[in-house]
Amino acid sequence: MSVTASVVPTGRTSVRMFVGGEFVESTSARRGQVYNPSIGEPIAEVPFCTAAEVDGVVKAAHAAFPAWRDTPVVERARVMFRLVALLEKNAESIARLISLEHGKTHEESVGSVRRGIEMVEFACGIPTLTMGDTLHNIAVDVDCETYFHPLGVCVGITPFNFPFMVPLWMAPIAMTCGNPFVLKPSEKVPLSAMRLAELFAEAGLPAGVFNVVHGDKEAVDALLTHPLVQAVSFVGSTPIARYIYETSVQHGKRCQANGGAKNHILVMPDADMDKAVGALQASAFGCSGQRCMAGSLAVAIGAAADPLVEKLSASAARLKVGRTDVKSDAQMGPVVTRQHLEGLLSNIDRGVKEGAKLARDGRAVKVSDAPGGFYLGPTIFDHVAPEMHVSQAELFGPVLSVSRVSTLEEAIELTNRSPFGNGAVIYTRDGHAAREFKHRAGAGMIGINVGVPAPMAMFPFTGVKGSFFGDLHIQGKEGIAFYTQQRMILSRWHPDSHAGEFVTTRG
Ligand code: NAD
Repeated sequence: MSVTASVVPTGRTSVRMFVGGEFVESTSARRGQVYNPSIGEPIAEVPFCTAAEVDGVVKAAHAAFPAWRDTPVVERARVMFRLVALLEKNAESIARLISLEHGKTHEESVGSVRRGIEMVEFACGIPTLTMGDTLHNIAVDVDCETYFHPLGVCVGITPFNFPFMVPLWMAPIAMTCGNPFVLKPSEKVPLSAMRLAELFAEAGLPAGVFNVVHGDKEAVDALLTHPLVQAVSFVGSTPIARYIYETSVQHGKRCQANGGAKNHILVMPDADMDKAVGALQASAFGCSGQRCMAGSLAVAIGAAADPLVEKLSASAARLKVGRTDVKSDAQMGPVVTRQHLEGLLSNIDRGVKEGAKLARDGRAVKVSDAPGGFYLGPTIFDHVAPEMHVSQAELFGPVLSVSRVSTLEEAIELTNRSPFGNGAVIYTRDGHAAREFKHRAGAGMIGINVGVPAPMAMFPFTGVKGSFFGDLHIQGKEGIAFYTQQRMILSRWHPDSHAGEFVTTRG
């Protein structure tokens, strides 16, 4: 697939910004490369926008605020109804673009578009979702009401692993609540965001309500410190999430910052082993392990360990790794960049040095029609001890660690020792064990007999500990609370408070 149209104009290589309804070339001298990870070759150049360019984008968004804030909420919602139709119509081509720049398989990319559509569908309900409360006659002639007021310019800073879906966790809700939005997508995968900008415009979103600026720390810092920015939503790794949260808050902004993860999947000896293996494989190796909800540490309890490792290794060996930029039967694609691949390889070396046993080594994988691609086959470490790096760190690739423990108690204790708290899962047929786990596991998203407790549009993404910084989570009703300010109005109207023409009496 070639990259054309709004994404990168024909005959050029540079991704543009989207400002005030126009695609605009950046003049920044600093640039990065966007790769097709399936073959390891650059496909476009992304500008690292300057602070002055960011200032221009924020001012364009701010200029759109008064008219958008005063646009009836049902009209704001109608833009999203039209966007849903456009996303449905273009889902296949959007998915191909995601696969091109990210490396997901086509099915995974289509799945991520579908999850994004669910967020837009949720935003279609904004008139009902933002109804306030009223209490008539709270005192004599006094009524009390609350309503949701927009904030002003909201910003989204997003990671590489879901280039189309994660912006949709934020922008539709922020915008239907009456706020203009500025997106700073990952500089590794900026093309999908440009397609989204084009689709918002086609859906009839007024100029300036959705904007895109590209770049790295310079652009991000300019957003976090800009006096016109009111709220910052972030999704990315834990150290950057902490930095974004602290900097935003120091500059008087609201912030919700989702970080990284090390999701533990507990497998009890009574679990349906075939189902657990299938789910664990999809969880650990889906999207080549580049998911914040990936099950990256399996905790095998008692007699579950031997069959689990044996069946997992056998089924991982059958996974077909290959190109995803063309039609193929690949079940797993590349990782996003060469640098990311090198990081994974060095973490595998470290795991071996620390004494973990490689039950399956994916380093030798060969994709014959794409020797330059960024490939790592599914890799499984067994006998991983809690103090090992591969037990503690988020590797963010197709590397699954397996720890062996004797009891559920020990497994929950191991789970709760993690500095992260995104997701935790149990596979069991024992209702009491599941119930114990549900209440005592220290993660925000709990799964019972599912590989991934995936975020759902109507519910908040409730990460905790090092996986989330802030108060109000992304998505669901918490997302709406984040992008609005609740106002309370107390009004008193006496019978004699009229201008004099009409006389009303009680009764
Ligand atoms: P990242 O933290 O490197 O980058 C995320 C964003 O921050 C990008 O837009 C990037 O340009 C920007 N950024 C990077 N360094 C910065 C700096 N020094 N100062 C300011 N901004 C900076 O994350 P990534 O590698 O793109 O994405 C993978 C990470 O995202 C993983 O840790 C994964 O777990 C996490 N993630 C979390 C969730 C969640 O909801 N919890 C969802 C998806 C991904």
